[in-house]
Amino acid sequence: MKTSKDNFEIVKSDQEWREILTPEQFNVLRKHGTERAFTSPLDKTYDQGTYVCGGCGQPLFTSETKYDSKTGWPSFYAPIEGAIATSVDRSLFMTRTEVHCSRCGGHLGHVFSDGPAPTGQRYCMNGVSLKFLPQEDS
Ligand code: FE
Repeated sequence: MKTSKDNFEIVKSDQEWREILTPEQFNVLRKHGTERAFTSPLDKTYDQGTYVCGGCGQPLFTSETKYDSKTGWPSFYAPIEGAIATSVDRSLFMTRTEVHCSRCGGHLGHVFSDGPAPTGQRYCMNGVSLKFLPQEDS
C-alpha cells in the first residue's frame, strides 16, 4: 500500500513512533492494523467534543457527525474538512478506501458508501487511532 513518507507534514521513523505510541496505537496507525470490533470505548461515546489523531493530534472528526453504525467501530458520516486523506487498499482480497490523517499519514480506518444522510458515507474508524477531547462547558 502506498503511504508516501514524503507527503506529510509530520514524518517520523518507526522507532520514533514507537516511543510516543502504545503498541496498539502503533499497530493500527503505522502498520494498518485493525482493532477488534466492540473493543473501543469510543464506539459508544456520544458526548460533545472533538476526535483528534492519536498520532499527531490533528482534529479529525466532531461529535456532530458521529452515529451508531452497529459495526463495533466508531463511525462518522463526515470528517473535518481537509483532515483526512484516502488511498486505495487492495489487501484482504477486497478493494477498499483507506482513510488516514492528512498531517501524519496515520492509518485510521476505511470509508464505505453505506452511511447515513446527509453524505451517505460511513467513516469506519479504529478507536485506538483517535483521541477524544470532550467539549469544555463555558
Ligand atoms: Fe495524524
